[in-house]
Amino acid sequence: MRKPIVAGNWKLNGSLADNEALVSGVISGMGELDGIDVAVCPPFVYVPQVVGLAEGTALGVGAQNSSEHSTGAFTGEVAPEMLHDVGARYVILGHSERRAMYGETDAMISDKVKAALHAGLTPILCVGETLDEREADETEAVVRQQLAAVIAGNGIEAFERIVIAYEPVWAIGTGRTASPEQAQEVHAFIRGQLESHDARVAQSVRIQYGGSMKPGNAAELLAQPDIDGGLIGGASLKADDFLAICRAAADTVG
Ligand code: PEP
Repeated sequence: MRKPIVAGNWKLNGSLADNEALVSGVISGMGELDGIDVAVCPPFVYVPQVVGLAEGTALGVGAQNSSEHSTGAFTGEVAPEMLHDVGARYVILGHSERRAMYGETDAMISDKVKAALHAGLTPILCVGETLDEREADETEAVVRQQLAAVIAGNGIEAFERIVIAYEPVWAIGTGRTASPEQAQEVHAFIRGQLESHDARVAQSVRIQYGGSMKPGNAAELLAQPDIDGGLIGGASLKADDFLAICRAAADTVG
């Protein structure tokens, strides 16, 4: 039985005051959430604040990116060791916005995964196809290649410590969600790719769905056999919405 994991990707949003209100709202509803992992991923500068707010609770904290380097002349970068040092435990890597807008390649993402694992962080590795790729029937080829790069660079055993997020790019921030059947098909494909290397690892890896997941569609997505949680963008900025998705995940347990 895989433990569901719901994580909020706050993207470029937040302020000291807003974060405090949002985190206290989330924490106040977490008592009812048994059997799942919950995390939020604020912008870098707010990670220490959110770690402080979450102290003594079950809420995990992550970042939205980290460097493939640990130290040195890399102006503007943040090392995964630094994130671990200030209390982060997760890091989102390979988000489609970073692939598309900041030129992150599969090879770079594999290196970032390696560095994050070395630092003791749990990478949330994002994979997914664009609309053009889906319409050209290339979804499986794209996802296979994105996974293969990380398997080649880190070995299949690394996936014991990685969470995968399947995020169809056409569903991110668009209000357009993959149907439960569309999502399940790709999740099963992802698990099958891992299975061809190691069946035990494939069965244990948690695969989140991300892309306009909301309270209204979370339950049917999370009911799919290979969907083990959600990576939530817009809806993670409202405590009530985020908690409703977390409750839908908790309802799948037990
Ligand atoms: C995301 O950015 O990872 C995401 C899934 O965003 P949204 O929920 O807003 O589509």
